Amino acid sequence: MHEGICFGEEMLQLPGFKILDVKHDPEEMILTVETTASVVGCTACGTRAKPHERRAVSIRDLSCFGRATRLVWVKRRWRCPDADCETKTWTESHVGIEPRVVLSTRAAMESCRQVGELARPVAKVAEEFGVCWNTVMGAVEHHGTPLVEDQHRVGEVTKLGVDETSFLSATRHHRTIYATGLVDLDAKIVIDMVKGNSAKDLRNWTSSQDPKWLEGIEVVATDLAESFRAGLSPHLDHATRVADPFHVVRVANRMMDKVRRRVQNEQLGHRGRKADPLFKIRKVLLTGAERLDEPGQNRMLLGLRFGDPNDEVLGAWLAKESVREVYLTDDPAIAELLLDKAISSCQADSVPEIRSMAKTLQRWRTEILNHHRTGASNGPTEGLNLCVKRVKRCGHGFSNFENYRLRVLLHAGGVTWPKRPRPPKIRTREPYSDA
Ligand SMILES: [Zn+2]
Repeated sequence: MHEGICFGEEMLQLPGFKILDVKHDPEEMILTVETTASVVGCTACGTRAKPHERRAVSIRDLSCFGRATRLVWVKRRWRCPDADCETKTWTESHVGIEPRVVLSTRAAMESCRQVGELARPVAKVAEEFGVCWNTVMGAVEHHGTPLVEDQHRVGEVTKLGVDETSFLSATRHHRTIYATGLVDLDAKIVIDMVKGNSAKDLRNWTSSQDPKWLEGIEVVATDLAESFRAGLSPHLDHATRVADPFHVVRVANRMMDKVRRRVQNEQLGHRGRKADPLFKIRKVLLTGAERLDEPGQNRMLLGLRFGDPNDEVLGAWLAKESVREVYLTDDPAIAELLLDKAISSCQADSVPEIRSMAKTLQRWRTEILNHHRTGASNGPTEGLNLCVKRVKRCGHGFSNFENYRLRVLLHAGGVTWPKRPRPPKIRTREPYSDA
């Protein structure tokens, strides 16, 4: 048994501890340990301390051979023999295990990594470690905050993306609460998350940033929200504003949907049902013309024939396509022609939804065309939005914005995680060879 325990200490990799006993059952591995310290000086006067008493504390460490591990640390209490000394007794400590914590430092770091980097649910990680939810969330806050606050996490940014995500869906007591994500479009990382999506929220954020850093930003890509346009002023007035293609097309798609729903309702007197001609083609209508195959086209024409007597939906479809066409070219001059053509024909249309889209496009004309001039788009932000959504899904919604922000930044904020050793691959497959 003695030799085995020596090997155990080798594997434990916690210098300063020796293993007294190993027990295991199907649920967990229990290692009883004590420190190797035998000669200790008083923390105050330095007199050689006397052992006072022992108390066992349970700590969760990294799991071992697929089982949760419990360290039972038989902690020593020392006593100062000097009667005049103010320090009467004290408990020993160890660098790998902070006082009064449930998780060893390395286990806390690992749970933080699992929740942050891998976006795993806190409850799942807690279950695996055999601790409670609060313990893991505490570890995420304790170890994650310095990683997020790290000065080097966000470098110089030349292209900034601003995008909103919903943070809390509406309930009886409040409306939908939004959060604004700020993204480095080149490095593809979330710089920060701000609660709210108003101009003031954004302005508060920009005013709290280093002016030197803001000066370096050349391009800002946003969706077509007036609040963002207003919020970027005055701190980012120098940057070129770009309306993100994804959002411009979304404006057109929403207009398309609105017209379809209205016409559907006027024709049938109810909301879309499975068998309704326009409801059946609702997705085809949103598909880009160049991606429609022949059966798709036929279905669309058939649906329009039956459900769209006044050609309003057809008009909306054509208007939507005219907006999409702006992005079929890379040439700024051609894009300008196409956009102006789209705007003027939409302005002349009899359908109110199409005319209202024309107004939006006119208001954002410069920003829309800036996409072709700068080549910047919020594409990466939309990808990051997926990451954000993954965090949100795994949290089953958040109530605490600070937690939410922390977890989004840990997952998608370009955090440098402490290096973990990479084990060499064994039994790798050789490439097949005909020789
Ligand atoms: Zn003392």
